[in-house]
Amino acid sequence: MITGKNYIGNLLTSTGRVKFKTFNPQENKENNVVFSEASEAEIEMAVELAASAFKVFRSISGIKKSEFLNQIANEIEALGDELIKIYCLESGLPESRAIGERGRTIFQLRSFANLVKEGSWIEATIDTADLSRQPIPKVDIRKMSIPIGPIVVFGASNFPLAYSTAGGDTAAAFAAGCPVIVKSHPMHAGTGELVASAIIKAAEKTEMPNGVFSNLNSSGIEVGVKLVKHPQVKAVGFTGSVGGGRALYNLASQRPEPIPVFAEMGSVNPVIILPEAAKIRGNEWAKTYAGSITLGSGQFCTNPGLILGIKGADLTNFIKILSEEIVKIEPTCMLHPNIIGAYESKKAKMQEQKGLQTSASFSDEIAINYGRQAITTVEGVTILKNTALHHEVFGPFSMVVQCKNVQQLEEIIANLEGQLTGTILAENAELENYENIVNTLQNRVGRIIFNGVPTGVEVCAAMVHGGPYPASTDSRFTAVGINSIKRWVRPFSFQNWPNELLPDELKNENPLGISRIVDGKRTTHKL
Ligand code: NAP
Repeated sequence: MITGKNYIGNLLTSTGRVKFKTFNPQENKENNVVFSEASEAEIEMAVELAASAFKVFRSISGIKKSEFLNQIANEIEALGDELIKIYCLESGLPESRAIGERGRTIFQLRSFANLVKEGSWIEATIDTADLSRQPIPKVDIRKMSIPIGPIVVFGASNFPLAYSTAGGDTAAAFAAGCPVIVKSHPMHAGTGELVASAIIKAAEKTEMPNGVFSNLNSSGIEVGVKLVKHPQVKAVGFTGSVGGGRALYNLASQRPEPIPVFAEMGSVNPVIILPEAAKIRGNEWAKTYAGSITLGSGQFCTNPGLILGIKGADLTNFIKILSEEIVKIEPTCMLHPNIIGAYESKKAKMQEQKGLQTSASFSDEIAINYGRQAITTVEGVTILKNTALHHEVFGPFSMVVQCKNVQQLEEIIANLEGQLTGTILAENAELENYENIVNTLQNRVGRIIFNGVPTGVEVCAAMVHGGPYPASTDSRFTAVGINSIKRWVRPFSFQNWPNELLPDELKNENPLGISRIVDGKRTTHKL
């Protein structure tokens, strides 16, 4: 049952005065449950509890953390249809999407469980002593990754499960040994509370310290701001807009003790359609892209918002087919009136820009809170002069840029802000002639895709979901896949430390049997 209260560790409380409800965009009405925004005292309690839980949780074994993560997955599964129902009521997204996202969330939790159970992820490195070294003896140094402390997680509006309460950031932080305080997204507070209840149950069943997890409701930015400023918070995970991520990044860097903010933000995900691809498969790509642009009402951070090609008959044909195909697709419900409001106003602002033409715009009657897809076109020289044309329009919108020649195409790519993805559509034979384009694109993005669409982010170890700013605030890390754990740890060295007092990961006997680098060689053997 959803109570509308905050979880401060395993305590449900609602002492705050600010109340709010979530919204059902399909029915255009508020949902029933009244949520209580976390008060200042509740925020303080949650952070203090997390700090005290950290003292124990930071050195809990990989096997115990793995039990905790697997149990969270079990408890989420046990929520059954109730979770799917509330997800749909709060997001307007279809049941199939809710089920798919729940599967992804569970998969992420279990992947981290396997990672920490095996244990080699901590990157144990041992440089043994050499007492006979001249002119001074060499000391024994042993390094491993250790957790950085309580983490605050801000979930995304468009992923109520996979990038929210028990999503990638939280799973990675638990795996690392960090307690988590979630600033619940106000649009899906009920989904958040149900998932929070699953985490709390799992924490109790697996005997994790109370305070390893808290879930705080909020209807505005104040709760998040207070959390980021709190001295006991040691890092922040954020998924959302560039404006939100940047504001939190600035706040965190202005603290007396600055802390890292790993913000995954918006992107226009440039797609380059090379001349032969436009000529030979332009129609096919146009149909595929009509689907990708409108997938989930365009509410994906990997939505292809910018398509670039060389001006000519083939690109004109691609634009024509894309425009015809996209208006054949039935619009779908967007997440919330605020999201659709932002979509319509950003789209209109874009359409007011000088030199921008609208080649397709869905104009039939649609239900309230549904998003009308649109395709616009612009000349290469125009986008070079006007960076307002680079902005993300979060929704089913894309802009095709008609470049004068390859040099101009390269210049435009080089001038783009950092992006999560870049895509090259090419016939095999032509790709080698565009090395500069590929290299320039690689310099701007976190992931490059050949002959496909950027929507759809596989959860696997090789995935990079991130990229140069403003796609993320730190392009050295990924937010998706097991390597995202690296955001929540710091390297730490023991010097000449007694073997019996070292963590198991660094002991001579290698009792965990993990893979380590000993004197420069990778091995699972004992010393
Ligand atoms: P959002 O408006 O930035 O909200 C995200 C969260 O941040 C919310 O909880 C919001 O709190 C909080 N927030 C926003 N501005 C803040 C501020 N100035 N100070 C403190 N907290 C602040 O984003 P959204 O509408 O949920 O999501 C859409 C955006 O997310 C799109 O741009 C999309 O591309 C991006 N996104 C990126 C990824 C990725 O992996 N890179 C994934 C999904 C979505 P309140 O709601 O309480 O204000």
